[in-house]
Amino acid sequence: MENKGRVLIVDDEKINCSVLISLLENYTTVIALNGEQAIQRALSDKPPDLILLDVIMPGLDGYEVCRVLKENEKTKNIPIIFITVKATEAEEARGLNLGAVDYISKPFSPAIVLARVSNHMELKRQRDLLEHLYITDSLTGIANRRRFDLSLEHEWKRAARMKGCISLIMIDIDFFKQFNDIYGHAAGDDCLQKVAQALDKVCAREIDLVARYGGEEFVAVLPSTDIEGAMTVAKTMKDCIIALEIPHEGTSIGSCISISLGVSSNSNKGIEAPQVLLKQADEALYKAKKNGRNQCSN
Ligand code: GH3
Ligand code: MG
Ligand code: MG
Repeated sequence: MENKGRVLIVDDEKINCSVLISLLENYTTVIALNGEQAIQRALSDKPPDLILLDVIMPGLDGYEVCRVLKENEKTKNIPIIFITVKATEAEEARGLNLGAVDYISKPFSPAIVLARVSNHMELKRQRDLLEHLYITDSLTGIANRRRFDLSLEHEWKRAARMKGCISLIMIDIDFFKQFNDIYGHAAGDDCLQKVAQALDKVCAREIDLVARYGGEEFVAVLPSTDIEGAMTVAKTMKDCIIALEIPHEGTSIGSCISISLGVSSNSNKGIEAPQVLLKQADEALYKAKKNGRNQCSN
């Protein structure tokens, strides 16, 4: 079955793991036999959608594992269900206060474990979907303005901490109003999707982000990149859009869709805030437009 949820079962007793694995046969199950292994699996590139966590284990106990996972940005949203013989009210409260979504005492009813896992899986799916929609541009499928704002703030702080560079590229499609006027709004939307995908492909590093800033404007955040590096990326973007060869009769630049780009970097003097970085990229974009479009400025 495709896309079935992934459950991490954490228990130091192999027999308990086996019982849960057969009970959860409709899910992909992964096991961890101690706390350290559980944390390692949760942080892997295939993280679980839900964790069933035993409390009493040698080494790190379940409460400790829960605390570690809830403190880590990467794992804090994975729902944890404690499944344990420690079933006093105080212990249950302790588990829930640590951020677990549920608490099941052993011996458990298989039907109730299944129902609870299924309910929490569904909630997790809805939450992931909402999170995705919150930061994604619905027309082009790339990051939206909100995600850009969050990323710029985050990367700016990181650059300041590491005394590293960060650059921005503001991108605007040339003569796009005419494109809509000539070919219609649906063709305009189609063009925006192609341009977005092409720009996104140029920024292949995982730390780079290309977002739709609004209308026919895009923006790229390039951490650990100086002005020369950013200019190189910008030129590649410009060439990639020309290479799409999207016909445009209303442009004065050849006969295809082109973009203008403005580049700024914190290595420039006087940039003390991300807003200034953005303003300088915008001014550079204006310069590229004024100098004839289909070009990069800084
Ligand atoms: P310039 O070369 O100076 O950038 O000129 P321009 O025509 O591209 O710029 P202008 O800002 O005058 O027009 C932008 C146009 O982008 C206006 C609008 O019709 C179009 N546009 C903005 N958002 C969308 C959208 O979501 N879909 C479509 N199809 N068009 C859009
Ligand atoms: Mg514009
Ligand atoms: Mg434009």
